[in-house]
Amino acid sequence: MPTSLIQPEFLVEIDYDKCHKCGRCVQQCGWGVYSFNERPFPDDSKCRACHRCVTYCPAHCIKIKKNDLALRDNANWSPELRKNVWRQAESGGVMLTGMGNDKPYLKIFDHLVLDACQVTNPSIDPLREPMELRTYLGRKPDSVGVESNGKGGYKLKDGGGVSNNIKLDTPIIFSPMSYGSVSLNVHKSLAMAAERLGILMNTGEGGLHADLYPYGKNVIVQVASGRFGVSPEYLNRGAAIEIKVGQGAKPGIGGHLPGEKINKEVSTTRMIPQGSDAISPAPHHDIYSIEDLRQLIYSLKEASGYKPVGVKIAAVHNVGAIASGIVRAGADYVYLDGFSGGTGAAPAIIRDHVGIPLEIAIAVVDQRLRDEGIRNQASIIAAGSIRSSADAAKAIALGADVVAIGSASLMALGCHLCQGCHTGCCSWGLTTQKPELTRRVDPEWGAERLTNLVNAWSHELQEILGALGVNAVESLRGSRERLRAVGLDQQTCEILGVKPAGL
Ligand code: SF4
Ligand code: SF4
Repeated sequence: MPTSLIQPEFLVEIDYDKCHKCGRCVQQCGWGVYSFNERPFPDDSKCRACHRCVTYCPAHCIKIKKNDLALRDNANWSPELRKNVWRQAESGGVMLTGMGNDKPYLKIFDHLVLDACQVTNPSIDPLREPMELRTYLGRKPDSVGVESNGKGGYKLKDGGGVSNNIKLDTPIIFSPMSYGSVSLNVHKSLAMAAERLGILMNTGEGGLHADLYPYGKNVIVQVASGRFGVSPEYLNRGAAIEIKVGQGAKPGIGGHLPGEKINKEVSTTRMIPQGSDAISPAPHHDIYSIEDLRQLIYSLKEASGYKPVGVKIAAVHNVGAIASGIVRAGADYVYLDGFSGGTGAAPAIIRDHVGIPLEIAIAVVDQRLRDEGIRNQASIIAAGSIRSSADAAKAIALGADVVAIGSASLMALGCHLCQGCHTGCCSWGLTTQKPELTRRVDPEWGAERLTNLVNAWSHELQEILGALGVNAVESLRGSRERLRAVGLDQQTCEILGVKPAGL
């Protein structure tokens, strides 16, 4: 009997005539695909197609090919479904995966186009003319109270009802990714880039390593149900605090960091035992009602000198009502995470089949908050597979104030979307704690690439604003009249609040 019915997904081909026999591929592969005996020998079954060996092979003699194993056609049982049955028959377990939903669901952003302004006042050169991308994250007052300052001028009356807001130089921030799920060098790269760009990175639910304390004013510190790393000092280090209720890539499922990733430093930062699995259950077990949420929001504000407090939720059915409750409970922002978002580890069945698209969630939440007259009371951060500046512009036109990028920022650091993050063997040194792999990311190099990416997208946002004939990103927010749908059904258009192209 064969030990496994599953054939390798990828085939590693080496052109031995070109191969230098240097062994570089053996060193580069995090999954131990290669053995070496005078020349490299691959074990195809272990390859995840991360392309690290291909990228670093000095002889360019390696090819990774999809194994086109001929399985009889069956429109009902795809090869993937068949392989999954074999896998589970062999293991008896839940199948884990990383890095987001890869199923071909309709991507609504790809069916929305932005309007242009050709006969009125488009800018001549949006990169030279003032195009304001500055955004303020946080609660805005219903009205501003002023009184005379006694010198013929005015001053805010009793603070004028103005809350602490965070100034962002561009409406793009980095998504929550915990220390533990990603390496410390990744966190350092994100923090350094956030400081240079005048934006924010987010600790995720893993605490803040002491090396990152100097970057606190550019960090959102997250408080999840596991309360990893949460202390008064942690709360006071951050620029804002985020209560994590849900996560788009796995709604209803809490965080799970396998014990192998919890080394000494991760354990110190998270304040949990070394080597034991870290589970942060969902939903947030401090919160069973809006009153509980309100209490937690105000406890965190009290503990931190009234810093902005946001709440992160997954995009699911009824998200408009949930967001309304969050805003009424006193949150300064709502973080909406759509079901295409990435993750370090999720059961594949949840990742691929639970949740709703981000685009729908933004439109529904923005409209609900407007209908209730409370849209000014909180900002909306949209995340969950923002893939380009065009996605960012469309998310903002649908109603978001700010977008957050996670997968794209890991890609800037080398990620090739091999979806092996949950194994802790990432060859690119990103979602691993193995020192021989984590040192592959130099924080200075990483910060430069992340800064370049966000700067490039910001320039493109300016170009888009110019084409639309507006000169501030604030003017685009919730401006659905500037969007048109191509190939979306009438009901989806109505929910999005977007007209079909041609109207
Ligand atoms: S897993 Fe990555 S590094 Fe290893 S053989 Fe496959 S492509 Fe190369
Ligand atoms: S972070 Fe690493 S393991 Fe995860 S998808 Fe990217 S390359 Fe693969």
